[in-house]
Amino acid sequence: MQIIHRVSFNRDSDIGQRFEDLGVELTVGDILAVFEVMESHPHWPAIQAILKEYDLPDLARTEFTKDELEKSHLLMMRPGWLSGYPMPDMDFGYRHMTYDLTDYCSHCGIGFLQTAPFRMRSEPKWGNHHVLMLNWVFDEYFVRPEVWERVFRKYGVQSLPVLKHKTGQLLETVVQLKIDTLAASPLKMGDAPYETCLVCHRTKFLPHRRGYFPAFAAKQDADMFKTREYFGSGASAHHEVIISSRLFREITSNRVKGVQFAPSIFRRYWGQSESAGQSRQRVADERAVQERSSEPS
Ligand SMILES: [Zn+2]
Repeated sequence: MQIIHRVSFNRDSDIGQRFEDLGVELTVGDILAVFEVMESHPHWPAIQAILKEYDLPDLARTEFTKDELEKSHLLMMRPGWLSGYPMPDMDFGYRHMTYDLTDYCSHCGIGFLQTAPFRMRSEPKWGNHHVLMLNWVFDEYFVRPEVWERVFRKYGVQSLPVLKHKTGQLLETVVQLKIDTLAASPLKMGDAPYETCLVCHRTKFLPHRRGYFPAFAAKQDADMFKTREYFGSGASAHHEVIISSRLFREITSNRVKGVQFAPSIFRRYWGQSESAGQSRQRVADERAVQERSSEPS
């Protein structure tokens, strides 16, 4: 597992030289200079000190090894490709056309209930991708119909049609994955930071970007489902999408492009009575995983 930071700052600032002196390679654009650095970089502590000194925006993400992903029993799905907007995009008009908003709170973004097909401007320009996420809609995935057929259908995942916005006709090269199962239990979020809405008093967690995704409080049987919890900040809220290891293997063996994954911490001993030795081992395993995934940012 590698935690990677993406940093950007004004290209005219003189701190660029300080980063370069620490062995960082900058990409300089018209306005911004950008670099990515791993926490395993020999000068990471000095780089981090400069980030703090100048209060620079720093977006962390985690990349896992093939082995870490393959050993996980549940994985969080993350978008690898965002493309297009739900239509109509003017004034978020898609919300009224796509969702029942009875339970929706515009202050925190919680409470959408999909009742109609999504609409897109046109057929997606897939290129070499097979899965896409629309901007603004962070808990739905759209795939090529043949990918749904070959990869997802046998795991009980249904598909939903997608419409061409102008005409209301079916689009032929895209379907939505119907992910309407919620997790059988909550996540064990521990002391993860969250916000409580001042208007509706519901809570959501900040998006999870560092390390392993949290464990569920009980065993999950579905192959594709959403967390009960909401994640996001400000007026945006979404569920995270989780898949089983066997669906993960299906996706990777079919070389499906356009998604990434983060393994969830697994409770190996669910459903069994533990001996004292197993209990000690479980606590040691969990501590090791937690320590690896919760270094301070
Ligand atoms: Zn609210």
